Amino acid sequence: MGLPVVAIVGKPNVGKSTLFNRMVSERLAIVEDKPGATRDRLYSKAQWLNHNFYVVDTGGMVFEDEDTLAGEVTKQAQIAVDECDVIVYVVDGRMGVTDEDQYIASVLRKVKKPIVLAVNKIEDYKRQQSDIYEFYSLGFGALTPISAANGLGIGELFDEIVNNFPQDSVIEDDENTLKLAFIGKPNAGKSSMVNKLLGEERVIVSNIPGTTRDAIDSKFNYEDKDYILVDTAGLRRKSKVSEGIEYYSVLRAIRSIERCDVAILVVDAEQGITEQDKKIAGIAHEEGKPTIIAVNKWDLISKDDHSTKEFTKEIKRELPFLHYAPIIFVSAKTGQRVIKLIPLSEEVFEFASTRIPTSLLNEIIIEATSITPPPSDKGKRLKIMYSSQVSVNPPFFVMFVNDPELMHFSYLRFLENQLRETFGFKGTPIRIGVRQRS
Ligand code: GDP
Ligand code: GDP
Repeated sequence: MGLPVVAIVGKPNVGKSTLFNRMVSERLAIVEDKPGATRDRLYSKAQWLNHNFYVVDTGGMVFEDEDTLAGEVTKQAQIAVDECDVIVYVVDGRMGVTDEDQYIASVLRKVKKPIVLAVNKIEDYKRQQSDIYEFYSLGFGALTPISAANGLGIGELFDEIVNNFPQDSVIEDDENTLKLAFIGKPNAGKSSMVNKLLGEERVIVSNIPGTTRDAIDSKFNYEDKDYILVDTAGLRRKSKVSEGIEYYSVLRAIRSIERCDVAILVVDAEQGITEQDKKIAGIAHEEGKPTIIAVNKWDLISKDDHSTKEFTKEIKRELPFLHYAPIIFVSAKTGQRVIKLIPLSEEVFEFASTRIPTSLLNEIIIEATSITPPPSDKGKRLKIMYSSQVSVNPPFFVMFVNDPELMHFSYLRFLENQLRETFGFKGTPIRIGVRQRS
C-alpha cells in the first residue's frame, strides 16, 4: 500500500502551482521535476500532522478553444486524476464562477473520487464572502477558502484532504508492533524527540489515524522493525493554548499511556522534576506501563562528573515510586542518545512481558523468606504457601498465604526487591497480590 496521492486541478492561473509550493514547502528538496515537458506533472511528498502523501500539480486543465466549452481535459491532468486518491479542485475566488469552472466540475464529478474545493485568492474573507458563496453552485457541498499566496486557510484545506483519504490506508494495529508514548509536561521536548526519531530514521512509513481526530499515531521503522509512536497528533501540531493548560496535558498523557506498551517520560533537565512531572509519572506507574525517564535538553547542562549523578539523585528523591525506570540523558536538539530510546524500550517491554516459571518463582520466595523471615503479629507468623505469576504487562504475582492481614507493606517491598534482584524487571512495575489460601 503506497502513500495517498492528492492531485491539484483547475484551470490555468487560479493558483495551483502557488498552492503546490505552499503544500510541499518543507520538502521541496525532493520534488521530482520531470524533465522534458515545460510543465509536466510535478510530484512531491507532503506531510500534514502524521499523514504523508504525494501531491501532484497537474499543470492545469486547458481548453483547446477558449470559445467553446468542448475543450478537453489535458492528458496529464486526466492521468493525475485517475491515479489520485483525493482531488483538490482550485478555483479563482476573485473571478467568480465561470463556464470553464462549471465544465471542469462536471468532468470531475464523473471521476467518483473525493473532491475538495479550494476557493483561492481569498485574502480578505469578510469582504470576499459573497464571492465565495457563489462557488457552492458547483455542487460539491463544502468548500475551503484559501489564499495560496498568503498561506491562509491551508491548514483547513489539509484537514479536508486528509479526512478524505481512503480508509484502507489505515494500518492494522499489529500485535507485535511496539507502541511508544512520549509523555511529560509542555515544553519538555516531546515533539522535538518524536520529530527527531521520525526525521532521522527517514522511514516514515505512514500514519495511523486513530478513532478520534486528535489521536494520530506515527509508524516508523528502525533496524527492520516497526514501531508506533502513540498519539503524536497533539505533539506535532500543537495548540500552545490548550497545551499550556495542565489539565489538558495530563489528560493527554492518560490517553497516550493507556494505549502504549512503553511510556517515555520526558523531563526538562533545566527545570528538574516538577509537580506536573510527578503527576504524569504517577499515571504511568498506576497504569502498570514500563517506563523510561528521558532527561532531555542535556545539551544545556554544563558537564562535569557530577551532573548525571546529581540529576539521578533528584529523580530518585522526587519520583521514588519509579525506582525501576531506567534514566537516560538525551538531547532532542542535537539528537544525542535519542535513538537509544528504541532498544531500551525493547528491553523494558521484554521485562514487562516476562513469565517466571512457577517452580523457579517459589524457589526464590522460599529463599527470600529464609533470609528475612516474614512478619508476625500476636504470635502468628505470615506463611507464604505458594506463589504464581498470573499475568504479564506488568508482571503480576499472587501469593497465597495463611492470613493476608499479616502481610506488611514493607515486607511486600522486600519481596519485590528480591524478585527484581533475581529477574531484573528493568523498567517495569510489578504487582503482587496477596490471597488467603482457601
Ligand atoms: P496556476 O497556473 O493555476 O498554477 O496558477 P499560479 O500558481 O501560477 O498563479 C497564477 C497567478 O495567481 C500568479 O500571478 C499568482 O501570483 C497568483 N496567485 C496565486 N495564488 C494567489 C492568491 O492566493 N492570492 C492572489 N491574490 N493571487 C494569487
Ligand atoms: P513539547 O511541548 O514537550 O512537545 O516540547 P517541544 O518539543 O515543543 O520543545 C519545547 C522547546 O524546547 C522548543 O523550543 C524546543 O526547541 C526546545 N527543545 C526541545 N528539546 C531540546 C533539547 O534537547 N535541547 C534544547 N536546547 N532545547 C530543546
